[in-house]
Amino acid sequence: MSLPWDRLLAERAARIRPSLLVDFDRLPSSADLVLFSGGAPPLECLPAERIAGALAEAWRAEPEALWYGESQGHEPLRVAIAERMRQRGAAVEPEEIIITNGSQQGIDLIARLLLEPGDRVVVEAPTYFGALQVFEPFAVEICTVPLDDRGMLVEALERVLAARPRPKLIYTVPTFQNPAGVTLDLERRQALVALAERYGVPIVEDDPYGELWFDRPPPPPLRALHPDVLYLGTFSKTLAPGLRIGWLVAPRRLMKLLVDTKEGIDIQADRLLQRALARVLEGDWFERHLEAARANYRERCTLLLRCLERELAGLATWNAPGGGFFVWVTLPDAVDTDALLVECARHGAAYIPGSAFYPDGAPRPSFRLGFTTLSTARLEEGMARLGLAIRAAVQP
Ligand code: PMP
Repeated sequence: MSLPWDRLLAERAARIRPSLLVDFDRLPSSADLVLFSGGAPPLECLPAERIAGALAEAWRAEPEALWYGESQGHEPLRVAIAERMRQRGAAVEPEEIIITNGSQQGIDLIARLLLEPGDRVVVEAPTYFGALQVFEPFAVEICTVPLDDRGMLVEALERVLAARPRPKLIYTVPTFQNPAGVTLDLERRQALVALAERYGVPIVEDDPYGELWFDRPPPPPLRALHPDVLYLGTFSKTLAPGLRIGWLVAPRRLMKLLVDTKEGIDIQADRLLQRALARVLEGDWFERHLEAARANYRERCTLLLRCLERELAGLATWNAPGGGFFVWVTLPDAVDTDALLVECARHGAAYIPGSAFYPDGAPRPSFRLGFTTLSTARLEEGMARLGLAIRAAVQP
């Protein structure tokens, strides 16, 4: 006899946003579908040797790592992260950092601490899919603020902040945004922080891509402009997403609550790994690794932009990101990129349709292309296939 699970599920369960990844299996495609969906470093760039070496060193020198301990995270790792953040202009102390299982967990910790049913949460439109996955089960009302090529439209934000009930938090990816690739410029950063202060609404700054710039560093993090900004960092994009090590910078007033909440979820982040990462951050290895990654992604992005020009000039518009992993392509308004994806898959290439990045999930004329995971040959081949499918489906 099986239990009546449908009746047993919490109301919250009905609000769970299904994973994006599953849907690719349902597409009509040949086995060698070129996936522009990836938002991760390419497999061949994962620093497996360096991490294996550091793990072996940590394991021998610090066997106590195999025991329980420090839910806030390994202190030398927090010291190293604070130092890196200071170099980017944000005066952060190690005591203001909690190590998380990826920045995804940081979003969840913040949501648990701040959100009540019915609260308003402000996000960019489009926004990071995974943030919607965290916020929606809390039965909050998601309010959107549009983006342009300088990031979030702060005048539109002010209208949302001025309305009642006052939003409970502003979630933003200000640097090399996922999915739109755009970066909030300094003037708007200052305006955003000033608005948030005026209306008393906390900002959550999710920053997985800030260190992965192409030609010049982006403006300083929002956390550099205001100490109340809740900042999320991660090693998922700079080292490897499988590590599941990120960090959350929060005011001291919140730290004990955050640490106790994390303890209730998973006790602590992997202690051996944290010790290994503290070693990886010693010396200049990590900086050299970042330099190589930046050059690599810049080259892939340039190639993608060249392919877009060749395949879709006159038919679509897109941005040229200054860093990060994504280019956002927009077709004429009438185009439904959910439906178009099926055509593209028939031709052997797939993107993530714009609908995934809006809370209402309605079809959009835009889609996201990730350029970091594909080899140059696959990228060119995939773009040729996309171009063919899109030109056939969309009449200029
Ligand atoms: N935030 C954003 C904006 C992201 O793009 C991602 C990864 N796709 C995450 C958070 C989650 O990162 P992590 O692996 O550190 O949990």
